This record gives sequence, C-alpha cells and structure tokens, in this order.
Amino acid sequence: MGPGAVNDSPSAADLIAALARQVADFPSPGIQFKDLTPVFADPRGLAAVTDAIAELASGADLIAGLDARGFLIGGAVAARLNTGVLAIRKGGKLPPPVRTEHYQLEYGTASLELPADGINVDGRNVVVVDDVLATGGTLAAAHRLLEHAGARVTAAAVVIELAGLGGRDLVAPLPVHSIVVL
Ligand code: AMP
Repeated sequence: MGPGAVNDSPSAADLIAALARQVADFPSPGIQFKDLTPVFADPRGLAAVTDAIAELASGADLIAGLDARGFLIGGAVAARLNTGVLAIRKGGKLPPPVRTEHYQLEYGTASLELPADGINVDGRNVVVVDDVLATGGTLAAAHRLLEHAGARVTAAAVVIELAGLGGRDLVAPLPVHSIVVL
C-alpha cells in the first residue's frame, strides 16, 4: 500500500488501503503493522472512515473507542451519529474506581478499564470501534468489560480486519463489520 494509487472517486476501502502505511516487522519480527496515521491525517481518509463506520454503527446510542487509535474513530463517529463516546482505556490510565478486564497477549497479559463511577452504560446499545482487528483478544476483552457493566454490545466496527488471524471467530457471535479485509 502507498499514497500513489488514489484516484478521483475511489471507494472508502480503496482510499483507506491506498493511504495506509504498512510496516514490516513492527513491533516485533513477523508482524505487518498497519499504520492508519496517514488515513486519519487526510481529510478524504478521515471522512471515508467516519462515514463508513457511522453507517455500520447506526442504531448505537453509545460508541466505545479502544485505546488509542479507536479514540480518533470513536469521537468522529459519535459526533456524526449524535451519540456520546466512551474511551476504553488500557490498564493503569484511569483514576479509581475502575472496572478491569484482563486478557492474554502473546507474551503476558494486558488489561482494559472503564470508570466504575460517573458513567452508566447499563442497558445502552454500544458499538465498539477500533482501527485494526487482528487476533480479536482486545475486542473480546472490551466486549466482556462492557457486558459486565450492563451494556448491550450490538456490534463491532473496524477499519482493517486481518482475516487470517481469526479475530472474528474469537468474538463470535458478536457481529463484526470491517471496511477493508486483508
Ligand atoms: P488483537 O487483540 O490481536 O485483535 O489486536 C488488536 C489491537 O492491536 C488493535 O487495537 C490494533 O490497534 C492493534 N494491532 C494488532 N495487530 C496490528 C497490526 N498488524 N497493525 C496495526 N495494529 C495492530
């Protein structure tokens, strides 16, 4: 992928694929990192992501964005849909009290957190958004975190899905929508 292939009226998927940067062996050997920084920094790229994810998330009354690139998408989509946005933080960033969900990484564990006070997600229809779906571990943990807090997670929407890594299966039966499937 590279910035050269953008024509006058590409589809959202073509535009995003053309603008995204692929970095081999980052953050560790064998990983093809999909860097969406140039997509978000381009007005057509940001509009394409926002329009497509807003359409996929219509019906939500709260958008949850995953730390950290999901915050960019979540804020833009929530503003478009006239909902609020909820930042799902990596462990240790929020002041107490918090709700915590731990999950497995390739080496070790990580956690996601929500405030346990000041926001009530009970009974809310939440769509979770993020930039890239890989193994699905992060999305699955966010799903559990929100459901333990009483939310009804109706779907997830991502910009890029790495289909070979089985993330969709890990979070099934949660519906997952993606703009670009690689
Ligand atoms: P996973 O839990 O394996 O589905 O990983 C998803 C999270 O890690 C998302 O928040 C992504 O931002 C990030 N991520 C995982 N793999 C990649 C990748 N190849 N390129 C960019 N981001 C990735």
